[in-house]
Amino acid sequence: MSHVLAPTLRERWMAVREGLDNAVQASGRRREDVCLVAVSKYHPTAAIAELAALGQKDFGENYMQEARAKQTELEKNPACAAIRWHAIGALQTNKAKDAAGHFALIHSVDSLKLAEALSRRMPEGGMQDILLQVNIGEEPQKAGVHPDALAELAESVENLPGLRLLGLMCLPPRCGEGEAARPWFVRLRELRDALERRLGRSLPHLSMGMSGDFRQAVEEGATLVRVGTDIFGPRPNRPVS
Ligand SMILES: *Cc1c(COP(=O)(O)O)cnc(C)c1O
Repeated sequence: MSHVLAPTLRERWMAVREGLDNAVQASGRRREDVCLVAVSKYHPTAAIAELAALGQKDFGENYMQEARAKQTELEKNPACAAIRWHAIGALQTNKAKDAAGHFALIHSVDSLKLAEALSRRMPEGGMQDILLQVNIGEEPQKAGVHPDALAELAESVENLPGLRLLGLMCLPPRCGEGEAARPWFVRLRELRDALERRLGRSLPHLSMGMSGDFRQAVEEGATLVRVGTDIFGPRPNRPVS
């Protein structure tokens, strides 16, 4: 009979960090160039606070209402003062006011309409860092700008006040786990490189890689990996907090 206990949150987080360290080393990159974003959607604020106390700084949330409620609750907790929040989910234009200025980075900007709404909602002199989400698998129904429309969107977004475009994000087709996801990561990096040449400036960030494939993503140049399940365990079906 097996008496193996389920790993604790701390143990899962440590294991992910070790996997990330190994991937960074294997690809000859610097650890400080890859940010681990712990994707906490549907998980309770207690879990976020526990990881924050251990030193995890970056947390990703998908749903505006849930994210803002968690931010408000955790504001009172000194251990959470250093948290950097990332918005990684599909964002409706009418939710732009909840997002603009409330996240260290918004990964999921995928239309000019949304970018304009965010820009309009930014306070005078404020700057919101953003990524453009690319529908890398060119899947119908999937969020993200089509690769063919990326350059035009980037050029328009460049001119909007209050927004700073820092790179690209993708969510590869569902089947893409582990090695199967690697070609999509390569593709996103190539799109980024081409866009840098076109805009004549650097776009330092690539947000790609999740629980099943963050190692491959790091090898292909990810600067932000978004890991949920491997850190927090299976997700509840709806928000807990
Ligand atoms: C939920 C989510 C993740 C985390 O996925 P896991 O497979 O649980 O690691 C990453 N990125 C986005 C955009 C997500 O919605």
